[in-house]
Amino acid sequence: MILVSACLLGHKVKYNGDTNTHDLLLKYNDRGRFLAVCPECFARMPVPRPPMEIQGGNGRKVLSGRASVTDLNGMDTTQYLLTGADKILKIAMAYHARVAILKEGSPSCGVRQIHSGHFDGKKIKGQGVAAALLIKHGLTVYSEQDMTIGRLEELIAEDIRRDRSH
Ligand code: SF4
Repeated sequence: MILVSACLLGHKVKYNGDTNTHDLLLKYNDRGRFLAVCPECFARMPVPRPPMEIQGGNGRKVLSGRASVTDLNGMDTTQYLLTGADKILKIAMAYHARVAILKEGSPSCGVRQIHSGHFDGKKIKGQGVAAALLIKHGLTVYSEQDMTIGRLEELIAEDIRRDRSH
């Protein structure tokens, strides 16, 4: 299976109760190879919830205790994001998933970019907490921005091949 951020597949789990529906991914969802995951929901965070940003670093630093996460109200939500990341990793292991496609820019799912930590709309380079944990454990993690028809066909064909060889 291929893990995909649930908000990209039309699930209304984004912090503001909306989705980040990605038309191409939604179309390929019919192939039955995607597993919708939302680390923040799996950590039992509510929808809607205040936006969160990583403070003083990136997901990798959060994993090693050198950065934290707060929401717009100043509440420390680090433990929620760590819990959500851990649940996603457990799901990946249970399904033998080797690939994830996650939502760019999120403090949990961001692959190459996250918000600055100042709630000023600016972005910096870095991964979200769940993306960083999956990468640390050897998964290949793409952003929705990497997706083309060609790449999705390849990823799905490879996923089917892996299933048959198990
Ligand atoms: Fe989407 Fe990930 Fe945020 Fe959940 S945690 S709403 S899957 S970007």
